[in-house]
Amino acid sequence: MQIKNAKKGKTTKEIKQIAKQENITTKELKRKIAKGQVVIPKNIKREIKKPTGIGKGLTTKVNANIGTSPDYQNIENEIKKAETAINAGADTIMDLSLGKNMQKTLKQLIKKTETPIGTVPLYRAFHKKPIPEITSNHILQTIENHAEMGVDFITIHSGITQEVLQKLNKTNRTMDIVSRGGSLISAWITHHQQENPLHKEFDKILEIASQYDMTLSLGDGMRPGCINDATDKPQLTELQTLSKQVEKCQENNVQVMVEGPGHIPMNEIKFNIEIQKKLCNQAPFYVLGPLVTDIAPGYDHITGAIGGAIAAWHGADHLCYVTPAEHLCLPNKQDVKEGVIASKIAGHAADIANGIKKQKDKEMADARKNLNWEKQIEQAIDPQKPTQLRKQRPTEDPETCSMCSDKCAIKTTEKYLKKTK
Ligand code: SF4
Repeated sequence: MQIKNAKKGKTTKEIKQIAKQENITTKELKRKIAKGQVVIPKNIKREIKKPTGIGKGLTTKVNANIGTSPDYQNIENEIKKAETAINAGADTIMDLSLGKNMQKTLKQLIKKTETPIGTVPLYRAFHKKPIPEITSNHILQTIENHAEMGVDFITIHSGITQEVLQKLNKTNRTMDIVSRGGSLISAWITHHQQENPLHKEFDKILEIASQYDMTLSLGDGMRPGCINDATDKPQLTELQTLSKQVEKCQENNVQVMVEGPGHIPMNEIKFNIEIQKKLCNQAPFYVLGPLVTDIAPGYDHITGAIGGAIAAWHGADHLCYVTPAEHLCLPNKQDVKEGVIASKIAGHAADIANGIKKQKDKEMADARKNLNWEKQIEQAIDPQKPTQLRKQRPTEDPETCSMCSDKCAIKTTEKYLKKTK
């Protein structure tokens, strides 16, 4: 139990490892975990070789989503995508599988990976039965089932209430609800004319999460699905509800993070981070993108990375990747890789701006200055692509590159400029 131990001043194996990885003291890390500013998603039933700390003052983390869809049920493909994401640098994986193989995919994923795994148990609950037959109990059982399987963190859309839906009905939102879990639970509330079970039975969910030290990720079911809907009433009303649930989690020693938008214009990102951090007692913020424009299908890993960099610079802690396939189709392995790399660049750029990481960039600059190509490739976020490009378009002088060849600026300067120091 990371938070309980941190509050007692005890150093767990994971705290020790993460403090070393992040280059901070165990004392500092424990202080942040105890305050709820940092989480370590790790179910007590799992062994994770390289645990991950997410939160204030730590390097920005990246999540990759994988999972079968009703149209594509190949479990092997999804496991390969998870491996691709981890190799590309993803810190956590969410299994968002749908369809008949969802449980088998999750089992395989837990067995074959040593990275924190997250799920949305609601998908399972809504797969098994039609909405009129789904009960609160049924949803709680699914949550418990995922906890028993060893899931490290779960998204629950506990902030969508009858009040939030009333607000939604009164707004002129363009896209209404784009969150998959959010749409399912809203359909349940509307059909049963009852309060959201994830909200009503929150205390029971806390008990399950506490038993397994499963981190809760409070989902933003009302996240804006387009620039026109950004930072509106339904989004902010939901955030207020989530802030009360964060308080409950932290009081009950349950690790918690909060999920955030969505589609947000660049000029509203800072406000979105600040309001979440303020209302939610500095709990880690897990943002989905954010996407800074709606008009780049096929390139949404770029629009997501622009938003992610700004968000992380202003305090977002965990970036959920966006792939080039976003809004279009189920991503393939290449999409997954490109999505992770784009988010890694965003997170790293923010870490530089926040003064956390600069060493690697200095090493890259030194390697460039020395025309040391091996070292440059070693320092690259994605070593594969520069290797391929160098091979595809070589130059006669292997010291330089085919951009300027014998007019290499670095070589010319080195030869003629005599610096005194
Ligand atoms: S050839 Fe031009 S682009 Fe290539 S390393 Fe030299 S200065 Fe840089």
